[in-house]
Amino acid sequence: MNKSATCSACVFFDEHSRNAAAPSDGLCRYNPPVSQPNETSHGLWPVVTQADWCGHFTADRSA
Ligand code: SF4
Repeated sequence: MNKSATCSACVFFDEHSRNAAAPSDGLCRYNPPVSQPNETSHGLWPVVTQADWCGHFTADRSA
């Protein structure tokens, strides 16, 4: 895997470490949040590491 195409360089990576397992982890914002159990709970964003990657990687903020 090309290290320049990992989550850490993706436009959809959100350094929202408060909701992540480790301080260097973040949230993937590619899709809307999922699994909202009831109207008072928050939806969930997938937690990813900076070294993760997927086929939706986007480096360009205008894309
Ligand atoms: S999972 Fe994919 S879309 Fe989400 S931040 Fe990582 S590379 Fe980007």
